Formats: sequence, C-alpha cells, structure tokens
Amino acid sequence: MIILPKYNCAVTYSHNCVGSFSAVDFFNQVNLLYGTLTEFCTPENCPTMTAGPKYEYRWADGVQIKKPIEVSAPKYVEYLMDWIETQLDDESIFPQKLGAPFPPNFKDVVKTIFKRLFRVYAHIYHSHFQKIVSLKEEAHLNTCFKHFILFTCEFGLIDKKELAPLQELIESIIVPY
Ligand SMILES: [Zn+2]
Repeated sequence: MIILPKYNCAVTYSHNCVGSFSAVDFFNQVNLLYGTLTEFCTPENCPTMTAGPKYEYRWADGVQIKKPIEVSAPKYVEYLMDWIETQLDDESIFPQKLGAPFPPNFKDVVKTIFKRLFRVYAHIYHSHFQKIVSLKEEAHLNTCFKHFILFTCEFGLIDKKELAPLQELIESIIVPY
C-alpha cells in the first residue's frame, strides 16, 4: 500500500520535517520495488534474510520480538514494512498537525527506519539483481537507491558499518570531491 504524506511542513521547514517527508517517500519506493519481486522472493528461494554470503539479518522489533529470530526474507520484509508503517502512522512520533512537536527520539526512529529500508535494498541487490535486470527495472532501482543513499549520507542516517554489504556500489555513487 502507498501512504500519502500527511505532513503539512512546507511552511515550517525543519530537519525533522525533511525526515518525515522522506521516510514516507523512501518507504513507498522500497515497497513498490520489492513488490515487483514478491513472486521470486519466496521462503523457498530466500529462506533467510541475507545481503550476500557474509551478511544475514534476524528480526526483532524490541517490543513483541525482543530476541532476534531467523525468518525467511519475505517474512523479514513483511515484519519490517509493517513496523515502519506503524511508526509512520504513530502521531506521537510523526505528528501530523502543523507545529506539533516532534518527540526527543524522533531522529532515532528515523534512523532505524532508514537502516531497515537499506536492508531491503541490500537483499534486492544481492539476491534479485538478475531478476531486476530481466524485468528491465535496474535503471529505476539504481535511481531510487542513489537518491536514498545520497539522502542518508547527507543527514547521517545510517552508520557506516551498516552500509558494508553494498559498500562498492555506494562508493561508485558517492564520488569523493
Ligand atoms: Zn529474496
């Protein structure tokens, strides 16, 4: 599903507003990209949530599931997207009224959202890139990822070690200058 941005931030520009808008936009983008792969990213094809041979992600939301559990990639993405949707819908985190204060942990929540969205990109690139190519979606995927990574770098939203599974690709996007 697509969540429409509800935030009326245009008048009172702030970093938090940028974070709100973008979290919704990037969430929708990843949702659409991954949505084209659901018939290929199955529990049989992807029994664990990996990003190449060296990285495997286990799911915990810290609330209902505190100890990380090993789940298939589609289950992981389902948990992840549901979790993000819950955060975006939570008015105490993403206030929808103009001028309503953002909570003190706002940036932490946004960082966790971006960290988790990155994992979906990492899985798509490592496990489904050939399929993306055959669907002629690679230019779109690359554009979305480039936009995503430039944004996260600009606002320092993802720790460097989290980016390791796609390090080479990221270096090719961010040409040092
Ligand atoms: Zn998969």
